[in-house]
Amino acid sequence: MSENYTSSPSNLKITDLRLVDIDGAPKRCTLLKLLTNQGICGYGELRDASSRTYALMLKSRILGENPCQVDRIIHKIKQFGGPSRQGGGVSGLEIALWDLAGKAYGVPLYQLLGGQYRQQVRMYCDTDVEGRHSGHDMGVALKRRLDQGFTFLKMDLGIGLLADEPGTLSAPLGLLEDMKTFAPQTLNVQGGSVTSDMVRRQQSYDFFSTAHPFTGLRLTEKGLDYLENYVREVRSVIGYEVPLAIDHFGHVCVEDCIRFARRMEAYNLAWMEDPLPWIYPDQYARLRQSTTVPICTGEDMYLKESFQTLIQAGAVSVIHPDILTCGGALELKKIADLADEQGVAVAVHMAESPVACMAAVQTAAAMRHVLAVEFHSVEVPWWSDLITGLPRPLVQNGYIQVPDKPGLGFDDLDESVICAHLNRQHPGLWEDTSAWDQEFSNDRIWS
Ligand SMILES: [Mg+2]
Repeated sequence: MSENYTSSPSNLKITDLRLVDIDGAPKRCTLLKLLTNQGICGYGELRDASSRTYALMLKSRILGENPCQVDRIIHKIKQFGGPSRQGGGVSGLEIALWDLAGKAYGVPLYQLLGGQYRQQVRMYCDTDVEGRHSGHDMGVALKRRLDQGFTFLKMDLGIGLLADEPGTLSAPLGLLEDMKTFAPQTLNVQGGSVTSDMVRRQQSYDFFSTAHPFTGLRLTEKGLDYLENYVREVRSVIGYEVPLAIDHFGHVCVEDCIRFARRMEAYNLAWMEDPLPWIYPDQYARLRQSTTVPICTGEDMYLKESFQTLIQAGAVSVIHPDILTCGGALELKKIADLADEQGVAVAVHMAESPVACMAAVQTAAAMRHVLAVEFHSVEVPWWSDLITGLPRPLVQNGYIQVPDKPGLGFDDLDESVICAHLNRQHPGLWEDTSAWDQEFSNDRIWS
């Protein structure tokens, strides 16, 4: 691989930034390519369901830079990142810079981050069951994952399960009916993405974007009984020995999170993920101190400083950063080091293409501790085919082997697979972006 390049790292320069949007891997993914003056290119990706504009606005600020000076470039552009999808431009470019640096020097990303703690990375998989279903149904779906070799499981467990169960939820009268009419996703897809259609429909958007403390939704004892029985049924199918995390519980107040968590204590959960918005560390601390279920958040947090606040508040037992939101590979390594010092476990959120996955795997290989990296595409048969030069499927028996090839560790993208899954709104493949070459503002953040 590296012998194909005749790179002179000191003289390497970024000459262009190109993008392509694909659907279904497992969500909308924006893949990114940095071109250089020496024929090598670096691949990156924006956070799932983000906007390509977050990367395009940075193009003029990195043109002509040497991509091997990763930290220098990130300090120049990190003011343009933020939580959740806003972190996508900075973080997505950062992994592309590492891909280039690795290719320029002929070493894998894990080596640039300090070296290798492990040669394979455990992947935990999400499991969804569509529509109305029982805990037994979910248990059967999870059992299939065990049969596929996965060693760590996660399922959704939200109040959407209660939407059609009378007497399980309370709310200001009429609110639940309005939610079902205007924003059924709010109940059924707790962690789902806001769609452009929802943003245009004000009432729908208002429901979706109301944070947990303000919804007025409560669980009744009957609702708690229902959810507890659901988990008991799941465990009766998969047993108690495999780690099982739960996600997307909400949007209810911290008091109901505590009531719910206490009901979950007998079921040996690996963690309870994002029960509250991460912006409330004090509420997280209260929840964590009120239950023995490990409490987890982090997929929408940008930069180490936000994790520092959370960890110092004693708010979490597990953090769950996403490499495409947190600031990239080096920032993820720093966050993992911080967690390591404070006795907080790390799992890595990942609902993206193999580009982001391999960046996460390379970084996880260089972290002292990692529980597992997330895998969200068990049901996407072409997912592994997006990249070349690595085993297919990429995930085997619940692990990804850490490749020794330069940069992110794969050879190239397979453009025929990309072209078969282009996003309908942005169907172009690596189209010209020169309209962004002159983008400018007074970037100094003080006067
Ligand atoms: Mg999640």
